[in-house]
Amino acid sequence: MQAIYPGSFDPITNGHIDVVRRALSIVDHVVIGVIYNPSKHPMFSLEERMTMIRDVFADESRVTVDSFTGLLVDFAKLKGIATIIRGLRAVSDFDYEFQMAITNRRLKPDLDTMFLMTDIDYSYLSSSLVKQVARFHGDISMFVPPIINSRLKEKLNNE
Ligand code: ADP
Repeated sequence: MQAIYPGSFDPITNGHIDVVRRALSIVDHVVIGVIYNPSKHPMFSLEERMTMIRDVFADESRVTVDSFTGLLVDFAKLKGIATIIRGLRAVSDFDYEFQMAITNRRLKPDLDTMFLMTDIDYSYLSSSLVKQVARFHGDISMFVPPIINSRLKEKLNNE
């Protein structure tokens, strides 16, 4: 069984990685679907975000990285995958995730969204928080793997 884990991953954090690892104990293969949405003004380009995820999961053959633009249901159809993975942190994530899951199911009735709760250690963690701390030269080593930490530093030095 395969599942799609969609998101911006700008950049991937330990919270996302925790969700992928949990998903891999349930499904055989996870396709990480990086959203291409230029109107969100991401810090990292689509290619950069995909390369970072590939680097993080270099030793994990059960993870592949892909990208999509437009509707998630169309991407799922294209891939022939009917399971979506989303991570849940706090109750604050629920409203939005609930709306999206139901909308996606209305658009494609056989599509199901599987929610995985992150480890409590990552329940406050978001990509935007990591970027904010990094911008002010705070220590982000507990939020992202070393490889992402150095990419963030490089990016901020070049800004
Ligand atoms: P999006 O723009 O689609 O929300 P994100 O990259 O921010 O993209 O998040 C992708 C998915 O990962 C979402 O389901 C989000 O709730 C989940 N997620 C983000 N950070 C964490 C975390 N620290 N722990 C668990 N899930 C997370």
